[in-house]
Amino acid sequence: MSALRPYQTDAVARLESTWNAGGRAPILVAPTGSGKTVIAVEIIRREIARGGRVLFLAPRRELVEQAADELEAAGILHGVLMAGDPRRNDLARMIVASIDTLRARSARMGQSAVLRPDLVIVDECHLFPTKKRTALISEWPQARIVGLTATPARMDGRALGAVFDSMIDVATVAELTAAGYLVPARYFTLSDPDLAKVRTTAGDFNVGDLAGVMDRPQLVGDVAQTWLARAGERRTVVFAVNIGHSVNLAAQFRACGVSAEHVDANTPTAERAAIFGRFRSGATQVLTNCSLASYGFSLPDLDCVVIARPTKSLPLYLQMVGRGLRPAANKRDCFVLDHSGTVRELGFADDPRAWSLEGRALADDGPASKKRTRLEACNSCRRVFRGTSCPSCGVPGRAAVIAQNPALGELVEIARKMKPAEKNRLRLFLQLRGECQRRGMREGAAAHTYRELYGVWPPKRWSGFPMLSPSDEAKDIMQQRIARYRREREALS
Ligand SMILES: [Zn+2]
Repeated sequence: MSALRPYQTDAVARLESTWNAGGRAPILVAPTGSGKTVIAVEIIRREIARGGRVLFLAPRRELVEQAADELEAAGILHGVLMAGDPRRNDLARMIVASIDTLRARSARMGQSAVLRPDLVIVDECHLFPTKKRTALISEWPQARIVGLTATPARMDGRALGAVFDSMIDVATVAELTAAGYLVPARYFTLSDPDLAKVRTTAGDFNVGDLAGVMDRPQLVGDVAQTWLARAGERRTVVFAVNIGHSVNLAAQFRACGVSAEHVDANTPTAERAAIFGRFRSGATQVLTNCSLASYGFSLPDLDCVVIARPTKSLPLYLQMVGRGLRPAANKRDCFVLDHSGTVRELGFADDPRAWSLEGRALADDGPASKKRTRLEACNSCRRVFRGTSCPSCGVPGRAAVIAQNPALGELVEIARKMKPAEKNRLRLFLQLRGECQRRGMREGAAAHTYRELYGVWPPKRWSGFPMLSPSDEAKDIMQQRIARYRREREALS
């Protein structure tokens, strides 16, 4: 029997006391890297030792496979209920089932006639509560239920409370990091793709639209070049939008002389094992993929995660980052190179998060996170941080600059909503003011010049914004204006 870590033992104990106190369906909130499997195996062992029957429900084929592999490794006899799988054994005390296979069968004959579990374990339970799946659970009113997930929130806003009635925190990412069970991450935000035209489907970016934005040659090239400059010695997994994007990224890395391979959930099992083997041995340094985030592959040596796939999904994001946080010999930290703008949207993996069983409890709407200060990106090294200055190079973040000059904050806010042409006018006006100051002229001259150019006065509040150092264009315009006045004066005299 494998030794449980103290917090794992504690989680099992709290789960049992929840059941004993009359709770029927708690969720174990177990972040990536906390050893969800180890805990599940312990729960299963105890149930079987009591003479009970266990049903383990997984939402996808590869997660069924994975659970079966882990039970095999733990020496627990089990049957597998999944379409086309020969390991079926309805009489086994332990059954791993694909939710969809079970549901299809239930529609035909009512599975409760055959399966009588005393304990139902719902893996990745944040994906679970659809109407039909919830009906499935109600077929076993006597059974105890436990949900497993790192992120008890659904993207589509359905309430987990329809099935589950409480939550037990196994450990937070911050606690696991402090105890040395995970390594800390360092985040860098590197390019901001324009996602304005990308539609949202089922709560996340539309993958087809995303591919159109992210799979452009210059962005693909940027991912490889940036990695070479910043993390070229690190063992790296790159998350792409779709297979085509992933294949293109791998090709781009190889074009830079880096050993890179593409791998996916669709890659045949034997081939995938060979690719993982080459990655473990170091023969392959960079692995690109588009759908392995939620597949529980364990490659502790990897110490850089590249996010080339923008997402609004907190579960997906935490799964991507979490892949890099497992400790290994000589590994101090993990780099997260973000080409998607996601880090600044969804925060750090070890941020405190308030979950809720009700509806759309998307990570950030708990009271704890409301107080969270916004994330800054260093203007020099692009490291993402909280506070006033970059922990790597000491350059102040934008918030610190704005705190010294509140008008700048308003300016940024206004500029955000402006059309490009209008933004250019504003910029030129502030540069003209800068040029006036440089020449020791009255600032009013900038407003007059602006009026000559555009036929209208600049909006009043623009005068409250900090001036900008003059561009060559602004210098030229002012130079020409002064020369013209001189000529006019000479003509008069
Ligand atoms: Zn910096």
